[in-house]
Amino acid sequence: MRLVSYDDGRAGCLVGDQVIPLPVGTMRDAIAAWDAGELGIPGPQGGIPLADVRLRVPVADPSKIIAAPVNYRDHQAEMSSDAQVGALGFFLKAPSSLLDPGGTIQLPYHDRRFDQEGELALVIGRTARRVSEQDALSYVFGYTGLLDITMRGGEDRSTRKSFDTFTPMGPVLVTADEFGDPDDARLRCWVSGELRQKASTGDLIWGVARLICYASSVATLYPGDVITTGTPAGVGPLTAGDDVRLEISGLGLDLTARVAAGAAVASPTTGRDRGPVPPPPPASRARTDRP
Ligand code: MN
Repeated sequence: MRLVSYDDGRAGCLVGDQVIPLPVGTMRDAIAAWDAGELGIPGPQGGIPLADVRLRVPVADPSKIIAAPVNYRDHQAEMSSDAQVGALGFFLKAPSSLLDPGGTIQLPYHDRRFDQEGELALVIGRTARRVSEQDALSYVFGYTGLLDITMRGGEDRSTRKSFDTFTPMGPVLVTADEFGDPDDARLRCWVSGELRQKASTGDLIWGVARLICYASSVATLYPGDVITTGTPAGVGPLTAGDDVRLEISGLGLDLTARVAAGAAVASPTTGRDRGPVPPPPPASRARTDRP
């Protein structure tokens, strides 16, 4: 099923351009019904045109958002990073950073660089503690798109990635049975019409099952928790007025966000010139490429 949260947070099934309300209520109710083996496809009656609903983040209140650092080798190379997920483990993004699809990313500082990171994310469907890699995928409720918006610099990752609005997610949450192999999804991400990222999740250093196995060996995973798998090469700076679009095969609707900086102030922390080295902005990359 292709599920969305909409309006006041109720869950619906997306069929064509119609949203069919789920009788269970919210996405959390849908996850509980799935765990009980009782999540059925609703009948076609009562559909609402997609254009008439306000799409919301699929799960608004996960107990945690677990994120993989440096989980594609081409991103490791562009960041000149000597470590990847197998050395770093995971980091956490604050759930309060979630942003509804189509929302506006608010850049907090005028003197720092902020990048887009397009990623495949998954939502946990039942409590998982120390699950094996072999069993891991059976704990996944569904898959969705996530933008891990990031401030570059030397502050802790959890700080740089937890500003309010820094985690657009959605709009479609496709149940695991329908999504297919999460290690064979194609991802593309554009910023203001420029294609910046193009990758296959087959190139993940730690695939989805390994991430769940590892994360659940550290922290109990609860229904609704989000794991985001990391970003491929092609990160680049965002400026006010940009729009970001993330497409992941099998989801059917792209995740979009706008960028604003109307309330930006000077950064109170001093990590600007520390930490991993980001690639130059795409414009200067293009200039460098010319003979
Ligand atoms: Mn990321």
